[in-house]
Amino acid sequence: MTIFKKIINKEIPANIVHEDDLCLAFYDVTPQAPTHILVIPRKEIRSMAEVTVEDKTLLGHMLLVTTELAKKVGISEEGYRVVINTNQNGGQSVFHLHMHILGGRPLSWPPG
Ligand code: 5GP
Repeated sequence: MTIFKKIINKEIPANIVHEDDLCLAFYDVTPQAPTHILVIPRKEIRSMAEVTVEDKTLLGHMLLVTTELAKKVGISEEGYRVVINTNQNGGQSVFHLHMHILGGRPLSWPPG
């Protein structure tokens, strides 16, 4: 079981900022920017490489949640980045799909 499934199950604590029937969002324990939130589906999906057309509504919902959360925490107007690290070269370390919301400072491009 991944650490994120344990957070969904409330077996380990997290600083949760949003929760609904499809997903939840909480602050990253090792923030890479002043604001760093993770949005994860309740459904166990290993990575973005494994989503299917069945997940279309879920993925759209999660993206809308990132938009709402960015507004809620006050980074929307200045700008932010939504990132989905995928598999080894993508730098994924937890194999439960998640969207990072990063903001609160200028973010460089291209990424490392
Ligand atoms: P990835 O590298 O897979 O794209 O992102 C995984 C993220 O999960 C990392 O930014 C890491 O800091 C975060 N993370 C790992 N374990 C925990 C945890 O137990 N709690 C929280 N809140 N974040 C975690």
